[in-house]
Amino acid sequence: MHKGKFPYYECINEERKIVKYHRYILEKHLGKKLENNIHVHHIDGNSLNNEISNLQILTPKEHIKLHHEVISKFKCFWCGKEFFKNTRRKRKFCSLSCSSKYGNSLKKKHI
Ligand SMILES: [Zn+2]
Ligand SMILES: [Zn+2]
Repeated sequence: MHKGKFPYYECINEERKIVKYHRYILEKHLGKKLENNIHVHHIDGNSLNNEISNLQILTPKEHIKLHHEVISKFKCFWCGKEFFKNTRRKRKFCSLSCSSKYGNSLKKKHI
């Protein structure tokens, strides 16, 4: 995993301005200028991979959301099934029914 700032390729556009290479590529591809409030995301996370197929146009809001999504792997405490949840919080059960079954089994033990 990379830490800190990702490196980016830069280049000089027709207006002799230094621009991010991936934005330049996309502008060429679309045939129009990208608004400043439009973000370009590198799908594979490698900001040096400036293939058109690796670039995705997003709003800043969508972009931030994308980078904050964490898919964690958990193992269900009840049925032992491995499952994925989009959360940083710890999950014990794959489903509500597993969690209630576990709850019920605890109750029975106490009788
Ligand atoms: Zn991104
Ligand atoms: Zn389960």
